[in-house]
Amino acid sequence: MNPAALSDQARPSIPRILAVDDSELMHRLLRSRLQLEQVEIHTALNGEDGLRMAETLQPEVILLDIDLEGMDGFEVLQRLKENPKTRDIAVIFISASCETMERVRCLDLGAVDFIPKPFEIAELKARVRSALRVQQLLRMLSQRAQLDGLTALWNRAYFDQRLAAEFSESVRHDRPMSLVMCDIDHFKGVNDRFGHPFGDEVLALFSTILSGGRVSDIPCRYGGEEFGVILPATAITEAAEVAERFRRAFETHPWRRHPDLTLTASFGVADLTSPPPSVTSADLLVRADTALYAAKHGGRNRVAINSLPLAA
Ligand code: GH3
Ligand code: MG
Ligand code: MG
Repeated sequence: MNPAALSDQARPSIPRILAVDDSELMHRLLRSRLQLEQVEIHTALNGEDGLRMAETLQPEVILLDIDLEGMDGFEVLQRLKENPKTRDIAVIFISASCETMERVRCLDLGAVDFIPKPFEIAELKARVRSALRVQQLLRMLSQRAQLDGLTALWNRAYFDQRLAAEFSESVRHDRPMSLVMCDIDHFKGVNDRFGHPFGDEVLALFSTILSGGRVSDIPCRYGGEEFGVILPATAITEAAEVAERFRRAFETHPWRRHPDLTLTASFGVADLTSPPPSVTSADLLVRADTALYAAKHGGRNRVAINSLPLAA
């Protein structure tokens, strides 16, 4: 798996647990009983603080009391589920009520578990551990669904989503960002001459080159032999240098099984200043694609900026 690609989703190794309960005594109890469990305990005394902390802290698990002053636990859960930033956090209800209908309601609203008060600490620990295991599996699954099987780069679905997210962040903070679109030259001929397994090796090697940049780069397989690298906080001149490094690294790569072979790729670079102004992330993609088209038509094996081809 590509470590650069994973870095932005890296999680701390110690899971965070947020307890939302209006009893300080309960906070102290949880802290003392869970302190040896390799978890970080955070606490909130009411629903409002709990929601705020859930968003900023991004805990793996929330232990939620139903009987809170003001906003009750049901409403807190509902709000957590409505917010995309907190929707996936596992919520375990803790309540003194033993009513079946109340438990059913908790689970139907999306809680993963229910612990009746008073509880045995061993049971609480076991239920927290179980919720953490499920969370970890879900995270791995969703990450796997976003990775390309052959190259282990981010896939097209992730590319679309991340490009849109980075675009709106950059616009909001008035910060530069660039997109490099890449296409291997005459790749069909590589498959035809050397076979598809070698073609696949070439794709994997090209992906390794694209992953060799900065940790903040977001290299993706757009489809087939086309790739897109999102460069946050990077203006076009710097992005063109990055693309040029990719180009040179690929052109000079020695192919052990075919020592006389030279393979090349073409690159199109655009940033937020590329004309005409990009209103959406799709516009930025069109600008980079236009540049890539120009690089192909300018003779391939080159980096083109905004349809102005640079010398290779
Ligand atoms: P150009 O320089 O204009 O880009 O020419 P090209 O031959 O690279 O472009 P074209 O779009 O004609 O061919 C792309 C080829 O990429 C055709 C397709 O078989 C091959 N391809 C797409 N995905 C894969 C893959 O996963 N593995 C392999 N081995 N080949 C693939
Ligand atoms: Mg192509
Ligand atoms: Mg091609």
